[in-house]
Amino acid sequence: MTSTDAPGIAALSPRLPSPLQEVVDDRFERHGVRLLLKRDDLIHPELVGNKWRKLAPNLAAADGRAVVTFGGAYSNHLRATAAAGRLLGLSTVGVVRGQELAGRPLNPSLARCAADGMRLHFVDRSTYRRKSDPGTLAAVLRAAGAEDAHVVPEGGSNAAAVRGCRALGEELDGRADVVALACGTGGTLAGLAAGLAPGRRALGIPVLKGGFLTGDIRRLQEEAFGGPRGAWSLDDRFHFGGYARTAPELESFAEDFEQRHGLPVERLYVAKMLYGLLVLTREGAFARGTTLAAVVTGRPFP
Ligand SMILES: *Cc1c(COP(=O)(O)O)cnc(C)c1O
Repeated sequence: MTSTDAPGIAALSPRLPSPLQEVVDDRFERHGVRLLLKRDDLIHPELVGNKWRKLAPNLAAADGRAVVTFGGAYSNHLRATAAAGRLLGLSTVGVVRGQELAGRPLNPSLARCAADGMRLHFVDRSTYRRKSDPGTLAAVLRAAGAEDAHVVPEGGSNAAAVRGCRALGEELDGRADVVALACGTGGTLAGLAAGLAPGRRALGIPVLKGGFLTGDIRRLQEEAFGGPRGAWSLDDRFHFGGYARTAPELESFAEDFEQRHGLPVERLYVAKMLYGLLVLTREGAFARGTTLAAVVTGRPFP
C-alpha cells in the first residue's frame, strides 16, 4: 500500500515530486559548489515538508481510527497532525510535554492545533520522557481517552514514516551529489539515505544538542529496512545550543538568505542547516564541481 491509498489523502493533492530549484549564491559558487533547494516546503500548504512524507503512511495505517501523537509546545509535527485531522476528518489527540501548560492560555502553535480540532492532553516532563515504555504509554493513552487510537511517535518517526521518506532520496536521483537536511529525530534522514542512488550521500545537521542521533538513525533504519541503508553522516556543530536556541549570527544569516533568495527561512531547522552548509563550503568540505541539494523541510510559522 502506498501513502496515497489512505482514504482522502490523494484528494489533498500534494505537490510531489517537490520542486528542485537552483539558487545563484556567490558564496557557494566561489568554491565550485552548485546549490539546489529541494522545496519540500511547497508539498502542501498545511502539511508542510517532511511532515507530509512522514504522516501520509501513518494516516493510511490509522485507517480511519483516531491518531494520537506527541510533541513539545511548539512542535511542527503536532501542528501538521492536527491539520491532517481537520482536512481528512480524523480525530486527533496531542500529548504535550509540560503539565504546567495545562489550564494556561495556549501558545499560538497549540492554539492552532486546538482550532484544527486536536484534543490536547498535557503530561509532566518525567512521564513524557518515559512515553516509549509500554506501561507508561498505556497509562497515558488511558488518561487521554485514546486507547483505541493509532499511535504515532514524537516527531512522527516510525518505520512507516522512514519508509515514506525514501521517496525524497529517489526524487533526487541523478540530480545531486550530496543532499543536506536538518535533523530532529533523524527519521527523515534515515529514509532519505535509503532512497539515494549509490555514490550519493546524505548529510544531516542535528538541531538538538546531545549527539544521540547516530544511534537513533541506525535503529530507525533497522526497524524500517532490516539494516543499514545508504551513505550518511552528521555534523553536530550547528545546533546553536539546542532546539529553538538561536544566536544573533544565525538570525542575521537567515534574514540575509531570505533577502538574497526570496525564500522564507524556517528558523528552528532550515536556518541551522543552511548556515552549516555555508560554513562547510568555506571549509572546503565539498570538492569543486559538487552539486549540493539542501532540503527545505519546512517554512516559518505562522
Ligand atoms: C520536523 C522537522 C524536521 C526534522 O525531521 P526529523 O525527521 O525529525 O529529523 C526538519 N525540518 C523541519 C522544518 C521540521 O519541521
